[in-house]
Amino acid sequence: MTHASRIYPLNSLSQQPGCVLYWIQRDQRVNDNWALLYAQETALKTNLPLKVVFCLVPGYPGATMRQYGFMLKGLQELEKGLNRLNIPFDLITGDPGEMLPGYIRSVGAGVLVTDFNPLRINMQWKERVGASITIPFYEVDAHNILPCRAISDKLEYAAFTLRKKVEKHLSQYLVEFPSLVIQPSSGIPLQPVDWRSITALLKANGDVAEVDWIVPGEAAAHDALDKFIRNRLDTYASERNFPERQGQSDLSPWLHFGHLSAQRVALEVQKSATDPESKQAFLEELIVRRELADNFCLHNPHYDTTGGFQSWARKSLDLHRDDPREYGYTIDQFEQSRTHDSLWNAAQREMVATGKMHGYMRMYWAKKILEWTPSPEEAMAVAIYLNDKYELDGRDPNGYAGIAWSIGGTHDRPWGERKIFGMIRYMNARGCERKFDTKRYIALKNKI
Ligand SMILES: Cc1cc2nc3c(=O)[nH]c(=O)nc-3n(C[C@H](O)[C@H](O)[C@H](O)COP(=O)(O)OP(=O)(O)OC[C@H]3O[C@@H](n4cnc5c(N)ncnc54)[C@H](O)[C@@H]3O)c2cc1C
Repeated sequence: MTHASRIYPLNSLSQQPGCVLYWIQRDQRVNDNWALLYAQETALKTNLPLKVVFCLVPGYPGATMRQYGFMLKGLQELEKGLNRLNIPFDLITGDPGEMLPGYIRSVGAGVLVTDFNPLRINMQWKERVGASITIPFYEVDAHNILPCRAISDKLEYAAFTLRKKVEKHLSQYLVEFPSLVIQPSSGIPLQPVDWRSITALLKANGDVAEVDWIVPGEAAAHDALDKFIRNRLDTYASERNFPERQGQSDLSPWLHFGHLSAQRVALEVQKSATDPESKQAFLEELIVRRELADNFCLHNPHYDTTGGFQSWARKSLDLHRDDPREYGYTIDQFEQSRTHDSLWNAAQREMVATGKMHGYMRMYWAKKILEWTPSPEEAMAVAIYLNDKYELDGRDPNGYAGIAWSIGGTHDRPWGERKIFGMIRYMNARGCERKFDTKRYIALKNKI
């Protein structure tokens, strides 16, 4: 059964006759999906048909073919998986706030279920849909292991404040998923989506091409998780901060699009007989850091601007606003890896070419943007623009929290005062050279 605290009613209307409709948004998978499980539970309990709909925005602000391609292939697999369970799947296009209310009426839905996403645009869609319907509307947190709204009703100050709550409640939530059942036949026909015409509608930036090192979809995500646990988890603690090696899991694109459930990842990692230090280090990132980012975006309406920084950070950066910058670059120079710093350029190249910059380099990359732009406001805008344009896992709470951490000390503490950065933690190339083989990293990224 879906834990009651995962389910957040978005209105207080009572159920009407008609099908149970799951508006799938962030968690684009069949398996291990609490929102789909809840929708099916409701349908079976009330003996009503179940239907799933995805509303594709053909011109999602700033999205590129790299991201659309990954998502559409995952959605095709989703359709097949749902149909195997006799669950009809529809894909409609347009702005969800405009298109869904009419669709909901046309299919005669009696209850609407959706998944949780703390980002502004998704919250606005939900508000607009909610304002135009007369059926009950539930949001189910299928992304977080500990439901974001239930675990904390305030902006957490730092990882240690959330960690305490995670430690207290994890065993309650980190449980095995029930299985979906084959949906009893409802008379709603399974109509295949016309993927070719959907693709033709896209208004995405085709300059940022799809990548082939990663295969979208649930099946590939599960394979990658198995391989990571078998081959690399054991050395995660010692290897993950060496950008010239392959110590990270590379799971973030699948987690971002919901092809893989973080709860499944945590369950499998927990079960594995691996080095306890690596297990703990990995679960800290996967659970505490990842879920802290959702908390940040849910409770901080300014998550993507300097307005979201803590007051100590804002004041400190303000004091250094007029400090001379030794280097300054335009957004084009950044984008084309044309800075004086070969390490930074290599990281940018890695992101542009592969859609995934190494996690350690992301911190260095964003901090240097602060150092080489005229203001923290501009630094935020440049970093978010590039991150969301090129990263396969971009447009994610983790990205907004990571950028705010790097540029605005979010979830961090004040450090020693220095120019431009004020009390924001500083990083430099010499520090990187002491930590890892920067020459090898640069050489590797120059080849891609
Ligand atoms: C400036 C900057 C920008 C970032 N942009 C993004 C982004 O757009 N999308 C994104 O998903 N992550 C982002 N991160 C967080 C982190 O770098 C990536 O999640 C991680 O590198 C993804 O690679 P992986 O899956 O191989 O990670 P692993 O090290 O294998 O970690 C496993 C999972 O734990 C979570 N995780 C790991 N590190 C962090 C972290 N620091 N914060 C939150 N969750 C974490 C992710 O879900 C990740 O997939 C950013 C960090 C910074 C500093």
